[in-house]
Parts: sequence; C-alpha cells; structure tokens
Amino acid sequence: MSNISAKELREKNSLLEQRNLIDARTTSFLFSDGSVDALAYNDATRKKVGYLSNVVSVASADYATFGLCDDGTVMASSLINGFFTWERKSSVCIPGWHDIIAISGGGNTSVAGLKKDGTVVLYDCDGIFLSSNWKDIVQISMGRGHLLGLKRDGTVLAAGKNDKGQCSVSDWTDIVHVSAGALFSVGVKADGSVVAVGDNEAGQCDVSEWCGIERVSAGARHAVGLASDGRVVSTVFKGPADVYGGQCDVAHWSDLDVIEISAGAIQTIGVRKNGTLISTVNELSGMYTEQFERLFKIVGCKLFDNYENLDVERQTKIAERAKKRELYERRIMGVCQYCGGKFKGLLTKKCTQCGNIKDY
Ligand SMILES: [Zn+2]
Repeated sequence: MSNISAKELREKNSLLEQRNLIDARTTSFLFSDGSVDALAYNDATRKKVGYLSNVVSVASADYATFGLCDDGTVMASSLINGFFTWERKSSVCIPGWHDIIAISGGGNTSVAGLKKDGTVVLYDCDGIFLSSNWKDIVQISMGRGHLLGLKRDGTVLAAGKNDKGQCSVSDWTDIVHVSAGALFSVGVKADGSVVAVGDNEAGQCDVSEWCGIERVSAGARHAVGLASDGRVVSTVFKGPADVYGGQCDVAHWSDLDVIEISAGAIQTIGVRKNGTLISTVNELSGMYTEQFERLFKIVGCKLFDNYENLDVERQTKIAERAKKRELYERRIMGVCQYCGGKFKGLLTKKCTQCGNIKDY
C-alpha cells in the first residue's frame, strides 16, 4: 500500500476522532444539536448532561463525561450522587485548555486533549508524564493509566502504566488508528491488519487474523474493529463468565451500516448511518443486569438524521438553539423578542424600535 493512502487514512481517522459521537466507557453520546447524554453506573435512566455549550466531540471516563466545545475549550461533567451533572455550578471548563481539537477520557476521571499544534495536554492523569517527543500527534487514546499518541509519521508513543506491556509500542510503524483499552493497546496498520500489546487474559489482544480494518476500539477486556467494507469484528472472549455481557457479539452488525464503534466494559455500542445507536446488550446475566436494562433504552435513540448531512444538520440545530435562547432572554428581560427594543403604551405593547406588537 502506498504512503499517500496511509497518510489519507490517518487524516480521515484523525478527523473522525475530532468529531467523536459516542464513548462506551460510561456510554455517552452526542446529538447533532451539540447536547450530550450519558449513562452513569448507578443511575437509573439516561441523563442529559450537555446543557452548557456547543459540544462537537464527546469522551468519557468511568466517573466523568467530557465535551469538546466548538471554541476549542473542554467541559467536564461530574458524577454527583450517581448522576452526571452538567449544570453550571458543578461542571468545569478545564482551566487553561484552549485550541483543543480532540479529547480522550479514561480511568476514573482522566482526560487528555490534543491541541491544534500537535501537542498533548493532560488533566487528572496521575502517573502519566509526557516527554518532549510528544509532538506532531494526530490522534490520542486514553486507557486505564496509560495514553497512546499516534504521530503524523505513523509511529506511536505511549506513556503511563506499563505493567502488562501495554506501552510497548515503540516498534509499531505504518499505524493509521490507535485505541487504548484498560490494560492493553491496539493499532491499525495501513494495510488493514491490526496489532495489539498488553494484557491478554481475556483474549483481547488476539487480533492477528483481522484484515481490511480501518478503525478499532479497545474496551476493558475486548477489542472491536470496523472494516472498510462495513464488517464489524470482535475478539473472542476468554475471560471469566461473570464479566461477559455479550460485548463481543457484533458479527451481525456488519449488515447494519455501522459507521462508528466503541468498546466499553461489558458492552459495545455503535452508530449507524441513519443516526441510531446500536448496542450489544442482549443478554441479562449476573451482576450487570441493571446496566443491561438501562442500555436497552438507548437502542433506537437517534443522534442525527443522516450522516452525510451531519455537519449541516449540526450548524442548523446549533443556530436554532442560539435563536431560541436569545428570544427567551429578551422575553424575561421584558423587551421586544424580535429586536430587543423597548415597548411603548400600556394597553397595546408596541415596540418603539421595530414597531411589532407584543403578541406572545
Ligand atoms: Zn422590536
């Protein structure tokens, strides 16, 4: 395969990461109007967490959800009493972060940000230290205590915990996409083959048979891959039965126009071309019954109308929301909702500026 197409694949994947729609770590998902929903571990329902800003990309850790806003800043929700909240008082705009183009969350509340200039910033990432090599990065992925950075030249950097060899990626070349799992790392090569290092107790690194893959997602104990022809593949689960929730059962997704995949702890979620979410959760067993039931509810949930028009739809919905907010603010300020002018007359409220009557 030529160098050009490897570069193109890398750029394509980098752009997709900058507009990430789902993250299975806490199962958070982004709607075309810039709002975010998430499932908390001990929350009984979906929780809207994206009230504040125009979010263009979503990421999550076990106990936090993050949103990259269209101005290059990053919001973090927090989990309070089992509920994700993104109210003004409890959410934080990560201090000092700007010019961010992609985010990746992991661990309890860790998040990494990729900056426009190809450098990486960290928030709440104890034990991860970035050397001066961390530049020319085009994609990042956060695991549980380690971080991967894909460089423009197709090599990969890793930092943080390496107890299972999850950071042993220095010999990887021609990589076009990476994903950090809990204690393992997966990379897609330009020829469509896949490499993996780290913990393999549940067979999560057995990816050597995969071919034609364009993107991967590594979860807690499994990895899934999306092929250029729409096939969805998974590793075969070899871990203990009580942590298996059917997360590897994605073979039938191959016929369902899946465009994005995300591997979580006990589930895999995906987005279809028509904007609906899909989830592996189809079996109830053991300690995860409750979470399964909640995940059922997200299936059928619609993030956008048509993937091809996603950017246009997003712009339209964000503009509509801004307009609504403006009208609302003018109303509560007691001025003309159409132009912001003052009213004249006690009985007939007529705007002194645009002449419209107050008819609302
Ligand atoms: Zn007016």
